[in-house]
Amino acid sequence: MKVLLTKPYIGKSELKHITALLRSEETLAGDGVYSKKVSLYFKNKYKVNSVLLTTSASTALELAVRLCNLQKGDEVILPSFTFPSTANAVLLASGAKVVFADIDFETLNIDPKDIKRKITGNTKAIIIVHYAGVSCDMDEILRIAKKHKLKVIEDAAQGIGAKYKGKYLGTIGDFGVLSFHDTKNIVCGEGGALFINSKDKRIIEKAEILRQKGTNRTKFLRGEVNKYEWVDVGSSYLLSDILAAFLLGQLENIDFINEKRMKIYQHFAKELKPYAARGQIRMQKIPKGAKHNAHIFAVLFEDEQKRNAVMKFLKERGVLAVFHFLPLHASPQGRSLGFSSEEDYPVSSQVASTLLRIPLYAQMTNKERDFVIANVIESLNTIPSLK
Ligand SMILES: *Cc1c(COP(=O)(O)O)cnc(C)c1O
Repeated sequence: MKVLLTKPYIGKSELKHITALLRSEETLAGDGVYSKKVSLYFKNKYKVNSVLLTTSASTALELAVRLCNLQKGDEVILPSFTFPSTANAVLLASGAKVVFADIDFETLNIDPKDIKRKITGNTKAIIIVHYAGVSCDMDEILRIAKKHKLKVIEDAAQGIGAKYKGKYLGTIGDFGVLSFHDTKNIVCGEGGALFINSKDKRIIEKAEILRQKGTNRTKFLRGEVNKYEWVDVGSSYLLSDILAAFLLGQLENIDFINEKRMKIYQHFAKELKPYAARGQIRMQKIPKGAKHNAHIFAVLFEDEQKRNAVMKFLKERGVLAVFHFLPLHASPQGRSLGFSSEEDYPVSSQVASTLLRIPLYAQMTNKERDFVIANVIESLNTIPSLK
């Protein structure tokens, strides 16, 4: 048997919606009929003020950073343990400086204590990442942000459907970003969304302009101006309505998908509990108030050798388990920005070298699920260095 790390779940209505769109006379470009339906879904269910579908979470992050109006010399704090897009957004969309913070050993999310240590008179924003759809400590982060007048961008790329104290991830900070990339819980190939939680009309209007090639075309389409023209420097960040039609089909199944993933997640957690109790492995802590979406099942080992031994064992058995984020401060691009000392981010470095993701997807059969966990357990029981 061979078990892949992840597979998108494709239901019955994705193709139905795309076909209906193609047969209609409606636009295939952005902000069409299906984009409106998807935006409405988030507005109603997530209680988001403004929803802009984008080509990816990466571009949604760029938009969010642009909307923070950063100047040269400003600083943005974000975790080193994240995907490069989080840092790229700061560098592409502003003249601001990236400042990395370490993560918490148990939750694997940005450590508020390290955020406080990294704040200077130049800090203007924080980008937090909800790792594996497990919420960051938002009360504490918002408290710090308020005290220092910082904007908060939530990178909830992995967090669709997950909540913090009853609120959906992405709806808590000033801006929130979701991803519909092929590897996430809900997909449309490539796609993302920007949530603007401020009610400030100027911010929303600016976002619309930056996303529409720097023009006020969105206003024109609403009939608010009688021609549209170039008013700012922008780019093309709109999701095609063909992909939005696909995405609507996915959203119709989101509860099913996330529940299926959660059942598998809970099964893995239950089976591995005795090994965690013995200290052979550990699992990501789900803090109080966080309702996650079973995006990733991570097993953490004592050291890199042990992690690699299990990874190799599983690979030979046909179970595709992989490591995840490589800390950005130690990457070639991070080093070229002047980061070098791994000592400053000890937890990020340690977690990156000891974390193993095991396969998890909604349509995983019981047979596949049992095969995965039986092999993980066998590796723990038989690899000499692990016993
Ligand atoms: C996947 C991911 C991204 C990038 O998402 P895209 O939609 O592929 O641009 C950004 N941040 C995090 C934390 C991610 O996991």
